[in-house]
Amino acid sequence: MSFSNKVKEEALSVMPVEKHCRIAEISALVRFNSKPLKEGDDRLLLLKDNEAAYRKCFTLLSKTFNIDTDVLEHSVLKKLSVDDPVGILSRDCCKRAYLRGAFLASGFMADPNKRYHFEILSPNEETSDLLISLFSDFDVKARKSYRKKYSVVYLKESEAISDALNIIGVHRAMMELVGARIVKDVRNDINRRNNCDTANIFKSVSAASRQTEDILFIRQTEGFDNLPGTLREIAIARLEHPESSLTELGGFLDPPVGKSGVNHRLRKLSEYAEGLRSKGRSYD
Ligand SMILES: [Zn+2]
Repeated sequence: MSFSNKVKEEALSVMPVEKHCRIAEISALVRFNSKPLKEGDDRLLLLKDNEAAYRKCFTLLSKTFNIDTDVLEHSVLKKLSVDDPVGILSRDCCKRAYLRGAFLASGFMADPNKRYHFEILSPNEETSDLLISLFSDFDVKARKSYRKKYSVVYLKESEAISDALNIIGVHRAMMELVGARIVKDVRNDINRRNNCDTANIFKSVSAASRQTEDILFIRQTEGFDNLPGTLREIAIARLEHPESSLTELGGFLDPPVGKSGVNHRLRKLSEYAEGLRSKGRSYD
């Protein structure tokens, strides 16, 4: 089962107790999941393709109004304020129910182990604006965009998505999202550290191999005899210990030299090698 369907299954099982919340949820289910019975008809037909939304709407209608049909007459639509639901959405509990109905009818959520994305497809921009304002009443900042003839309200940040799941009352899905985020954070942290270590190791390895190359060049062109004693000593130490860090290398000298001293001598050696190269000396 897709993550989206899991969230919908859970949303389907959340049954509002109060009549005002039921009306709010039915109102959303009808608005997002129906079409005119015939062209020009003011009766609406519940759509069956989205089974979860259809089932919940049907159940709530029969519990609340004792209606047993998927064709909704004008009088019922009026009670549900389908066209202009603002009046039935003053309470927080009803706002939650409305958002849940909208998600159930027309929502999608990506698997949080892959990416963070939560959206509700609206029939028009006015409906999108209503959803955005309901989310913002709970301090969740939703955005909208367009897809073909639809307007889409969406959330991209994991925190906003977990708030949204909490608002619509699907707590199992919310915990799964939070779990996925923790795993991802830990993994990112480990990767960051590994990358950092790898970069440092690579840097010191390539510096050491450059130094070794310069020292070998000096030995093979002029030999070490012309070198000042301090440079000869570090050149020999580097060749004997190609993998050692600068600090370790300093420890092999007599008397021992600190890291910056070692660095200074190695730089002098490189300049020396550079000087030989510019004089046109080569291995042969
Ligand atoms: Zn309510």
